[in-house]
Order: sequence, then structure tokens, then C-alpha cells
Amino acid sequence: MIYENWLHTDLLNTRTNFCPPLMGRISCDVLVIGGGFAGLHAALRLAESGKDVVLLERSICGGSSSGKSGGFLTPSTESDLTQLIGLFGIKEAKLIYEIPVQGINLIVNAIKKNNLNCDLQKQDAFYLAISRGDIEILKEEARALKKLGYSSAFCNSKKLQLIHPSRGYHAGLRSRNGYGINSLVYAQELKKALLKKGVRVYEGTEAHKIKNNAAKTHLGSCQADNIIVCIDKMTNEFDKDISKKYYHVQSFLAVSEPLSKLEIKKIFPGQRMMCWDTRHEYTHYRIIGNNRLIIGGGSALTTWYPKHFNSPWVINRVIKDFRSHFPFLEHVKFPYYWNGLIDVTKDLIPIVDYDPKNKSIQYVMGCAGLPFAAFCGDYAARRLLDEKTEDYSKYLGINRRFFISEGLQQFLGKPLSFLLSHLRALTR
Ligand SMILES: Cc1cc2nc3c(=O)[nH]c(=O)nc-3n(C[C@H](O)[C@H](O)[C@H](O)COP(=O)(O)OP(=O)(O)OC[C@H]3O[C@@H](n4cnc5c(N)ncnc54)[C@H](O)[C@@H]3O)c2cc1C
Repeated sequence: MIYENWLHTDLLNTRTNFCPPLMGRISCDVLVIGGGFAGLHAALRLAESGKDVVLLERSICGGSSSGKSGGFLTPSTESDLTQLIGLFGIKEAKLIYEIPVQGINLIVNAIKKNNLNCDLQKQDAFYLAISRGDIEILKEEARALKKLGYSSAFCNSKKLQLIHPSRGYHAGLRSRNGYGINSLVYAQELKKALLKKGVRVYEGTEAHKIKNNAAKTHLGSCQADNIIVCIDKMTNEFDKDISKKYYHVQSFLAVSEPLSKLEIKKIFPGQRMMCWDTRHEYTHYRIIGNNRLIIGGGSALTTWYPKHFNSPWVINRVIKDFRSHFPFLEHVKFPYYWNGLIDVTKDLIPIVDYDPKNKSIQYVMGCAGLPFAAFCGDYAARRLLDEKTEDYSKYLGINRRFFISEGLQQFLGKPLSFLLSHLRALTR
């Protein structure tokens, strides 16, 4: 197995634009810092509204979490609708669930409108019960979805064998609102579209600090009327108070050698789907371009681990478990694997808010999932443009209350505080 992000190989077949680092002093209407899905979508909305936009990216656009992802676009994965209802009640859960639903629409619309070539595949989302006891979880989720007006189809084990023949899954819940993409290629293709719209993009450009509405970088600075910060892994030096608000969870992916058409037909006799199961560190898989299988998962031991855990140990366990469900794929090799740290808040709902000391700066942080990130970047841009938007300040506010306060967090440490908070958020 090679420790390498497979998505980079697809990038080699894509014409990308070179965006050199910022040198010297520049200014603009709006500065966006961070070129993941959040920053790119903030820049897109602003550029389409006629603003003069600069985007600074430390690595390349999509160079962090956004370009390491499995490209599953579904409204649920971290939190089921049932869990959101348990935490927030029906009305508010609907509002929160709508965030990724709208995020998916933003991504798919951007692909169609700008002709972005990024392996877009319409794939139903398929949620699988890993034990008999978990069948009730799927039934409950189906009831919650129906109550809030979303369609889904519960498949008992007999039906499941027809659409997804496998061993050891006990039921499935199919929802029709999913897509798969190559998220790294998407980020680079969207960058290309932004350049055409006049956005000035500087890659290899890390903003070290913001002072008097100017972001200082290694070789220059950018002064702006407004700034939207969409960065990950914020350091204490960047902002000591805000960096306390989020931590990360660690996830792993692997990509298989190409499967034969027959093998794919055996996994999905009908439509190809995006699958994940009912475990906390859920295993998830789907077919990507070139008929390869991408598979992801994690382990309780490494999810909240402070550092990158580069050993293939975790992903090998995930693959072993996958093979137990599909013994006819025993011979298939997974030559590439990689891991990544996903920024998250304690309640797994992002932060989109103004800097308490400077209302011309907004932070978009802890977006767990590509659809969340796309929505949150777009939402921050719409707020800046004074567009009529739904008011999400109650859920996305920077000073909202968390299960574990910052005082207690100081005592427990970040990994334990976030672990306990996430277990609470994910309790059904
Ligand atoms: C292994 C893995 C698999 C995943 N699979 C999926 C999936 O299938 N589906 C899904 O929905 N989500 C998935 N995710 C989660 C998803 O990728 C993230 O939640 C999402 O991409 C976050 O987007 P973002 O724009 O908020 O952050 P990021 O993508 O992290 O973007 C932040 C950007 O800011 C830049 N930056 C940081 N500091 C600075 C600075 N000081 N100056 C300038 N630039 C800076 C970084 O380089 C980065 O490009 C996965 C994540 C990982 C790691």
C-alpha cells in the first residue's frame, strides 16, 4: 500500500491554473482566506455579485480536507436527522438538516453552470444496518425523514439482497438526494471558474495574522473592506480565542485497483449507490471514476488522536471488514490510502459568525462535510452582501453554549472535551 492521496492522480489529467504566491501589497473589496469548499463558495457568491475578491490559500485550492475527501455528497453522515431532532426539536432540526441539503444544491449547480469536469455521479445514499438491533435506527430515521417531508425507502434484508447483495447487513435505507464527486478536481475546476470571473487567487500563500483589516503573508499583505476567514487548523498565533472553538476528527480512505464490470454488477446489480453503515466510525464506500472503489472509515482509537496517524493499520481493518461483507472481492487490492484531519466543533455544527471585536471580519470554521462547507461559505458571503437570508445565527454563532464549557475544556484538554461532546451529539 502506498500512502498517497489518489485524487491527485486525477488532477494530473486536469488542466489547472498556476496561481503564484502573493508578493507585495494589494487591496480589494473582500478578502477570502482559505481555498477549501467554504472559501471557494464564499468567493463564488461574492464574484457573481460584482465584488472585487482576493482569495489566499496556504497550499493549493482543495489542498487540505476538501481535497482529501471521498466526495460523498449527502445531507447526513455525521448526524442523523433523528439525532438532530433529539438535540434541537423538530422545527429546528429541519432548519439544520436543510444546511447540507442546500450545500449539495450549491455544489451541483456550480458544476452544471460552470461546466466543471469533476466525476459528478448521481448516486443514491444507502444507509446500512450493521446489526439486527440497528434495523430500528433505520426505521426511526425513515420516520423522521417522512415527518419532515424528505423521501426515503426502507429495504428489509430480502429487498437489500436484490439491490445490494452482501453478507452481514441487516437492512438499508435509501435516499435519493446524493451525489459523488472528485472533490480535489472540483476545487481546482472551481478555482478556474473564479479566475474567469475576475477573482485574484494566490496559492502557496499563508495568512499569518489579520491586523487593521489587512492579512499579512510571508511576502506581502492584502487590505480589504471585509474579510471572510475559512481556514482550517487555526493556530494560536492567528487567533488564540477562536482556535479554542474547534478541534479535529481523523478519517481514513483507500482506493482499490479497477474492478471488472461483472464485479461492480455483483455489488450493485442496479444503480450504483453511496453506502455507509450505522457504526460511530462508519465504514463508507462507493464506485468512483475508472471503476475503482473508494472506501473510508476510522477507529475510536485514532478519531480524536491529536496528530496524523499515518500507519495503514486503521484502513486495513476497515478493508478487512468490507471484505467480510463481499467475500467475492477478497482478491481486490487497495494500492492507495491516506488520512486527514477534519475540523469540527463540539456539537458538530459549524461556526459562521462575525469577529466579536470587528464586524468586518467573519469566520467560517468547523464545517464537517463538503455540503456544510459550501453552504457556510456561501452563507457568510450572502450576509456580507446583505442578501435576505435565513437567520442561522442561533445555531452557527461563535458564542453559543456547548455541552462542555471552555473552562472545563481547559481542565480536560481538547481531545477528551471533544470526544465527550461528540458522543453526546451522536447519542440517539
Ligand atoms: C479523509 C477525509 C475524507 C472525507 N470524506 C468526506 C466525504 O466523503 N464527504 C464529505 O462531505 N466530507 C468529507 N470529508 C470532510 C470534508 O472534506 C471537510 O469537512 C470539508 O472539506 C471542510 O471544508 P472547509 O473549506 O471548511 O475546510 P478545508 O478544506 O480544510 O479548507 C481550509 C483551507 O484553508 C487553507 N488554510 C489554512 N490556514 C491558512 C492560512 N493561514 N492562510 C491561508 N490558507 C489557509 C488550507 O490549506 C485549506 O485549503 C472528509 C475529510 C477527510 C479528511
